[in-house]
Amino acid sequence: MKKVLVLEDESSIRSFIVINLRRAGYEVIEAESGEEALEKLAQHKDVCVCLFDVMLPGIDGFEVCRRVRAGNPHIGIIMLTARSQEMDKVTGLMTGADDYVTKPFSPAELTARVDALIRRSGGFVPQSTPVVDEDELVSPPFTLNLRNRTLEKNGERIKLTQVEFGIMQMFLENTGKALSREEILDSVWGKDYFGELKIVDVNIRRLRLKIEDDTANPTFITTVWGYGYKWGA
Ligand code: CA
Repeated sequence: MKKVLVLEDESSIRSFIVINLRRAGYEVIEAESGEEALEKLAQHKDVCVCLFDVMLPGIDGFEVCRRVRAGNPHIGIIMLTARSQEMDKVTGLMTGADDYVTKPFSPAELTARVDALIRRSGGFVPQSTPVVDEDELVSPPFTLNLRNRTLEKNGERIKLTQVEFGIMQMFLENTGKALSREEILDSVWGKDYFGELKIVDVNIRRLRLKIEDDTANPTFITTVWGYGYKWGA
């Protein structure tokens, strides 16, 4: 079950959020202060999305966001802002948040944002990612090094563009899972990209030329007809 951390000091708002996220199938961890949120995140390293209220006693939501992001580039962060705090949106995204939700919000809107963020990060779930070295994703004969941003096949370096690297990372973090072309586009190009889906196919074709043994019969990146692509048969 995917874990979400909710940081909100007002208990009525917090329980409203918690109830709705649980109903949507998430395991929820609660915190009422920034300090408590940081402690709980240190205990639960498998949290995939955090919701941070901005106005808090003690350290504020922006500072929590900044600290969490500094130690974890993968975790999803959504800021909860009040309508009167329009500037928070900009500041929040600058401190490393992925998204923001303006209060008051509906349960449907909130869970849609959490779902979207998990989708966009390629369904990144820390504990189930096949990470051997913490900087490497391995799927024989391939090794993707996240620190050097390099790909090796049987120990030989394959040169990739940043986009191709992003696609490989998404595949190796989701081996065996069918990924829609929309998911790949959102995850690799970003949700603000409004280009055509065709760009996904173009890049997959180029990536296959680089990694497949036989491009006419791809065995690593397989096509899921009418949907998208998958790593492995
Ligand atoms: Ca508050």
